[in-house]
Amino acid sequence: MIATSFDPTDKHQIPPLVERATVQIGSRTSESDEVPKAGYSFDMSDTHDYDLLVIGSGPSGQSAAIQASKLHKRVALIEKRRRVGGVCTFTGTIPSKTLREAILSTTGGGLDDGFTVRARPEMVDLIDRVNQVIASETSVVRNSLARNDITVIEGEASFIDAHRIAITNDAGTRAVTAENILIACGTNAAAPPTGPSDGKLILTSDDVLKMKDLPSNLAVVGGGVIGVEYASIFATAGVQVTLIDRRDQLLDFVDREIVDELMHQMRKKDVTFRLGEAVARVEIFEEGRPEVELELESGKRIIADCVIFSIGRSPATEPLHLGSAGVETDDRGRIPVNEALQTNIPNIYAAGDVIGFPALAATSSEQGRIAACRMFGYQAENFGTLYPYGIYAVPEISMCGATEEQLTQDRVPYEVGVARYRETARGQILGDDTGMFKMLFHRDSHDLLGVHCIGTNATELVHIGQAVISLGGGLDFFMNSVFNYPTLAEVYKIAAHNAANRLRHVRGPRRKADAKAAETPVMSAEVPDRDDPRPNEEPPPAASRTTERSNDD
Ligand SMILES: Cc1cc2nc3c(=O)[nH]c(=O)nc-3n(C[C@H](O)[C@H](O)[C@H](O)COP(=O)(O)OP(=O)(O)OC[C@H]3O[C@@H](n4cnc5c(N)ncnc54)[C@H](O)[C@@H]3O)c2cc1C
Repeated sequence: MIATSFDPTDKHQIPPLVERATVQIGSRTSESDEVPKAGYSFDMSDTHDYDLLVIGSGPSGQSAAIQASKLHKRVALIEKRRRVGGVCTFTGTIPSKTLREAILSTTGGGLDDGFTVRARPEMVDLIDRVNQVIASETSVVRNSLARNDITVIEGEASFIDAHRIAITNDAGTRAVTAENILIACGTNAAAPPTGPSDGKLILTSDDVLKMKDLPSNLAVVGGGVIGVEYASIFATAGVQVTLIDRRDQLLDFVDREIVDELMHQMRKKDVTFRLGEAVARVEIFEEGRPEVELELESGKRIIADCVIFSIGRSPATEPLHLGSAGVETDDRGRIPVNEALQTNIPNIYAAGDVIGFPALAATSSEQGRIAACRMFGYQAENFGTLYPYGIYAVPEISMCGATEEQLTQDRVPYEVGVARYRETARGQILGDDTGMFKMLFHRDSHDLLGVHCIGTNATELVHIGQAVISLGGGLDFFMNSVFNYPTLAEVYKIAAHNAANRLRHVRGPRRKADAKAAETPVMSAEVPDRDDPRPNEEPPPAASRTTERSNDD
């Protein structure tokens, strides 16, 4: 072991990054050198080793640590893996999105630009590319922690009490104390019902990088975001995919039209959907060519080279011994928090996937920042429900704000504006003639309520809509703004004109003739029809080239 000396109170000293060979465990105090038994009562008047101890180096842990350091707090981050970055970097977001991009660039991704040479990618090349990106992403994270004077401690953390954490690694177990603790331990993939994955025939999403070859046939069990992403990504690489889910619908929080379009596109890539079906039996054949056979409750049989079980993720809280600190969990092991990300124990906070929905990298990161501000008495607004959602299937999907289904349920009057990528020159250039985009506007105020998109760069495009929604903008912004040409962002303009045309045919609130009439219920079928009740109040009829096109719809 290489000895390190670091004074955590000295903000000008760059702390060594603790790799496996260089283990540093906080600043040693006589109280913290030994691991006391659980239930040990710690004197709160003692000086703690750190102002903040963060457990986990995923997006929430990183941003909490960096934020607290910027507030001039003494921060240490504990990570049980040998490298920092979390699930996000090693098994989740970064590998899956890099794999997707690598497959798209080899195959053309189903877009017909009349140019790209189609090729079946080799798994070894794909994994190579994924590993390159993981390595550079890790070094970005490591450098930013180092630049912010954050002590990184390698080891598995568990609570001794509310201020004291035991850290176990190859060098042994030590205790470290902190005024505040942030639990940012994330989740683990739920184990397949057949038992632990074998990394060959039975996989979870954590094992995809263990694949030696691209399978010819793949079964994916679970039609949530991760299952859908991997099913469509592998189908794009030429793999025959069967997607099984016991629910009748995929992605029930996404706009129905968008999901229908996704399923249509996936079927074109030979994906077979078995929805409303559950797996009853799994059999592995290892002789000859190894295969796995899934029998569904309906009696259908699916033979595949391997199966990915994507049936949820469970909070990685078990090794933490949360009970020693009195931290409560819900029935699914998630940690309930208040608006400030504080658990039931006042100095212990939790952020990221361990607290549950929405369990995204970006929201986790923001939660970490907010927790760090709030625990030290700084103001930080919670982002509430306005954040974009990206599903990196092929084609990709993104949304922000309300869906039609929600607005209908909440009885909010709205109108839709739709645009197709093929209506934009950029869509034609890219060969994406299937992309679809829609905006939902309040029927009376014309405020933008929701944006939904499927197609190339959907996850980038959505941010324009997000900004307009959060700044309280609406139809006028899109009608009066000029967008670059040729861009996919033109779909905003086209969809706005489309919505404006529809809104011209919507009546405004009508004045009742007299009190008696007001009491008389009017059946909608009895309302007399007029072409355009509000000619002076509505946006002028569409005049642009793009509008004329959308009028054709
Ligand atoms: C296949 C897949 C694809 C995804 N794709 C996307 C996407 O496209 N976009 C998106 O926004 N999100 C995506 N996500 C979700 C995203 O990865 C998570 O929301 C994000 O990683 C959660 O961050 P976190 O801060 O909770 O920590 P995590 O990234 O989960 O990391 C937690 C860290 O804590 C460490 N740890 C756990 N217990 C201990 C302990 N006791 N002691 C010390 N260290 C510990 C772990 O080793 C790990 O490094 C995806 C997830 C998966 C699985």
